[in-house]
Amino acid sequence: MTIDTAPVVAPDRVPGPVPAGQEADPGPGVGAGEPAAVLTDLKGLEPAELDALVVGMGQEPFRARQLQRWIYARGESDLAAMTDLAAGFRRQLGQVAYVSRLPLLATRVSATGTVAKFVFALAGGERIEAVYIADAGRRTACLSSQAGCPLACRFCATGRLGFRRNLTAAEIIDQLLQVGAWAAARGQRLSNVVMMGMGEPLLNYEPVLRAIRLMRLELGPAIGGRKITVSTAGYVPGIRRLAAEPLNVGLAISLHATTDEVRRQLMPIARGFTIAELLAAAREYFDRRGRRVTFEYVLLGGVNDADDDARRLAALTADLPCKLNLIPYNELGQDSPYRRPDPGRIDAFRRLLEAHSIHAVTVRDSQGQDIDAACGQLAGADPSLPHPSGGASGGVRGSV
Ligand code: SF4
Repeated sequence: MTIDTAPVVAPDRVPGPVPAGQEADPGPGVGAGEPAAVLTDLKGLEPAELDALVVGMGQEPFRARQLQRWIYARGESDLAAMTDLAAGFRRQLGQVAYVSRLPLLATRVSATGTVAKFVFALAGGERIEAVYIADAGRRTACLSSQAGCPLACRFCATGRLGFRRNLTAAEIIDQLLQVGAWAAARGQRLSNVVMMGMGEPLLNYEPVLRAIRLMRLELGPAIGGRKITVSTAGYVPGIRRLAAEPLNVGLAISLHATTDEVRRQLMPIARGFTIAELLAAAREYFDRRGRRVTFEYVLLGGVNDADDDARRLAALTADLPCKLNLIPYNELGQDSPYRRPDPGRIDAFRRLLEAHSIHAVTVRDSQGQDIDAACGQLAGADPSLPHPSGGASGGVRGSV
């Protein structure tokens, strides 16, 4: 296991947490040319790692549980505020560790009040986004796993950014903690998590899995595995690997086409994996985990929304226990490469699919379009903020 560390000095000599990988002013007592002390980011550590750190400092193991509660249940990042820890231990801890926290640049709430988008800054100037969605009794946090995305799906604004970097487990879990705190301040408790924001989670496997284990902590966010969904564009080796994990998280697969030819046009990853291979991996996931996979299908006017597509989609998934989720495309402004089907076509596609399929069919009417928080609309590009790279600014998100 890796631990996020930052070469810095004690936080009492540093104004605020220092992002992993950044050098800070070594402060008094560290001579020129001497290596700065390395601080461990406590956020992102799992219980056994916290135990080892605390016991290694000569403390009782229960101190680790206290730390865990402060970091993951209360969302505290200031060691000085952890008042049930002895002052001496806090000072000792501050010499070797800190708790990171993503700077929150902006929060935008939709006109309906049911969706909120959060723009966070990363060390190095990149931005990521998370979304809160209140819907049908669920309170869901949609989290990013990468800054940008290497998969470049044609309909997705994140794909237009290109790949910037993978997020650490601390950066992933911190999105959840901050979205959860925002919801708690409004009397709401998060019930679900979807790894469906910016990036392809299965291409940042270890940090995503670590973050998921942290989400499940009872002395923490306490989100059950059945309430967590990993969404993939169809990275087959990652699906097979996830099928072997004892986490029992939900899996959503972006299918988006019923022929390999059309899928390759929409999603470059489809050049590496056929629909048949994807369906075989989905079957393996069901066989090993006992959980029905959800197939996501973005409806693009004139591209994949014909009657024949509906029949083929039903036939492709006929033998596989699954759910089918239709997502009418959210256009990306004037330079949108695709168009949303009209309501009549969406309804006809759904009815035809229901008539030919034994599976549950839902239509996800994405909320949050007015704040660029709907499916396919995350790009870390809040119009009120200058874009760090001067690059894409259309505002579009993650895995649809
Ligand atoms: S849809 Fe998902 S996998 Fe495809 S480019 Fe967007 S973020 Fe990446």
